[in-house]
Amino acid sequence: MSLKQNDSELHSLILQERKRQADVLELIASENYVSDEVLEALGSVLTNKYAEGYPHKRYYAGNEIVDQIEDLAIARTKAAFHLPDDWHVNVQPYSGSPMNLEVYAALLSPGDTVMAMNLDHGGHLTHGSPVNFSGKQYKFVHYGVSPKSHKLDYEEIAKMADKVRPKLILSGFTAYPREIDFKRFKEIAQDVNAVSMADISHIGGLVAAGVHASPIPFFDVVTTTTHKTLRGPRGGLIMCKEKHAVAIDKAVFPGMQGGPHENAIASMAVAMKEVNTAAFRKYAEQVVKNSKALAKSLMDFGFKLVSGGSDNHMLIMDLTNKNIGGKQAQDLLDSAGIVTNRSMIPFDTRKPWDPSGIRIGTPAVTSRGMKEKDMSKIASWITAVITEPLVAPKVKDEIKKFTKNFPAPGL
Ligand SMILES: *Cc1c(COP(=O)(O)O)cnc(C)c1O
Repeated sequence: MSLKQNDSELHSLILQERKRQADVLELIASENYVSDEVLEALGSVLTNKYAEGYPHKRYYAGNEIVDQIEDLAIARTKAAFHLPDDWHVNVQPYSGSPMNLEVYAALLSPGDTVMAMNLDHGGHLTHGSPVNFSGKQYKFVHYGVSPKSHKLDYEEIAKMADKVRPKLILSGFTAYPREIDFKRFKEIAQDVNAVSMADISHIGGLVAAGVHASPIPFFDVVTTTTHKTLRGPRGGLIMCKEKHAVAIDKAVFPGMQGGPHENAIASMAVAMKEVNTAAFRKYAEQVVKNSKALAKSLMDFGFKLVSGGSDNHMLIMDLTNKNIGGKQAQDLLDSAGIVTNRSMIPFDTRKPWDPSGIRIGTPAVTSRGMKEKDMSKIASWITAVITEPLVAPKVKDEIKKFTKNFPAPGL
């Protein structure tokens, strides 16, 4: 209200962005629509409070209420992920990237060897990219997917682990459309005495809902962002076995961060309560059903998908047989109100700025209530735009009308 009166410039920009989010098909696999309640907590007076330290052990006065809020966020996270009693949670990471670096800082020394997924095959920047702090500070050795199936080849990963003897093995990806066999990863790590870490940032909501295998309780450390399938505020969570708790808490604060964002932590508590409901489990199931339906429709329209399908919330279109690059396809789809992001495909011969793939995810459209039959409609729009670019404005109009039937949470 007061933004409208006192800062109309910014107010107008927020309204424009809200309208954009309402009018498009949001298919970026890492995005979602949070609830009004998540937004309300995030925009609350909790942003005013400094609370360096942990609940009941703070460096500033006046934390008696904030302590209860952070305790609640921790308790609700434990409930949402069904954590065993000997697991510990840190809800303070500002986002996914600091969260991962904090785990490394807690458990590794500079120069230690870490195994993680090749970035071109679906790993994240914080999994040892040479331009990221992780890649500069530690010796990352990357495994990839099989050249034939484009799925993880656990035999190869085990062989590599035996050869390089990593201190830590990281599983968890930013662009991998298949289910991960965490049990197998744990065996591989155990065989070479490595710490097992899973970064479930993308699939956090699916894991909590029980529609994807969980690395809990047998992994040592599990990290996740809270703003992707978990449908919470931007932030990160570190869950670990009690024996790593002290090192991890110290690495987060004072190791890497100062005052925690208690407004985000409160908002996380709201999201975790939502996650631990039958309605959310149904939502997560539908996310996967929609992804499989969209994958099937796109393949029926003649598109190639990395690994030939999807087990989770995302799929990766391989455009090499379509005579169009990922950047051009992304821009073209965007001009038609279909929002995606370009992506490398395994063994890509093009560069990251203009790779051969498009990554597509169903979490956001499923939050709007879309179902399988809507996915075939989306597939036909994607096909129309990529094969006949001139239809983009017409498709954009159709999508604007179509999305009106599916009000998004929080808008
Ligand atoms: C999104 C993501 C992150 C990082 O999250 P940010 O909040 O963008 O820093 C880390 N790891 C994986 C696997 C991710 O998908």
